Amino acid sequence: MKVIKKSKEINLLFNSSKKFGFVPTMGSLHDGHKSLIKRSIKENDQTIVSIFINPKQFNNKQDLKNYPKDINKDLAICKKLGVNFVFLPTFAEVYNWKKTKNKFPKVENILENKFRRGHFKGVLLVIDKLFNIIKAKKVYLGKKDYQQIQVIKDYIKINKLNIKIIECKTIREKNGLAMSSRNSRLNNQDIMQAANIIKVLRNFKKKNMNMKIKKLQVSKILKDLNVKFDYVDVIKLKTFKKTNHINKDTNLFVAFYLSSVRLIDNF
Ligand code: AMP
Repeated sequence: MKVIKKSKEINLLFNSSKKFGFVPTMGSLHDGHKSLIKRSIKENDQTIVSIFINPKQFNNKQDLKNYPKDINKDLAICKKLGVNFVFLPTFAEVYNWKKTKNKFPKVENILENKFRRGHFKGVLLVIDKLFNIIKAKKVYLGKKDYQQIQVIKDYIKINKLNIKIIECKTIREKNGLAMSSRNSRLNNQDIMQAANIIKVLRNFKKKNMNMKIKKLQVSKILKDLNVKFDYVDVIKLKTFKKTNHINKDTNLFVAFYLSSVRLIDNF
């Protein structure tokens, strides 16, 4: 495995005719990341993992400051899995890279875009740079960040880029909680509480009931548990628009806080 810190060096890899898979991450790798990496290794000749905490996508300074980091552990995980290249750039290596003429899609004012203003602009800024530096044809993203997948797919579509997004399923703890780097900031009580909330919400999704009534019930449950939340919404996956009716073509999306850690999920 080769660790590359220079954008130019990694960009030069694409002069070869090998099939590359790319897994962008912010590090602190867990089983969710590992599943993306394993899939890329299976489906491509070479796999590149980037580890870069993108400050531009954090709308909260404290969240950026507290974001977990463990580069040595991450590199050991990548090596063990059989990753070929890890791109480990500085901020300047990414953001000083030449400008593209690519346009950014308009992001609807729902879910994360409503509650984390500027977040997707930051995501698009880094994706625009990373896709220009790492010219892989397949990019592996997790459905835990479903809206992020939609935004990146829109970016690819409007700019007619020859990149395929491989959507990977959410990997969960045994208790149902979606794996996330931020989970390491939760204490045992928070983890039990989070797992309980996810269980209640997943059960709600199964029952056939108008979402307006459900949302009131869900809000009440979260308030009773004294849990602050940003949204509980049902989204049609095809159009990525809000709806009041749950069926097999929709997912329930939620964002809530425990010990000031913000968790998102969808199912
Ligand atoms: P992050 O390091 O949080 O930016 O995530 C890097 C990639 O891993 C993104 O495409 C995420 O959607 C994906 N990811 C994060 N958590 C999970 C999970 N629990 N299951 C599957 N993919 C995940």
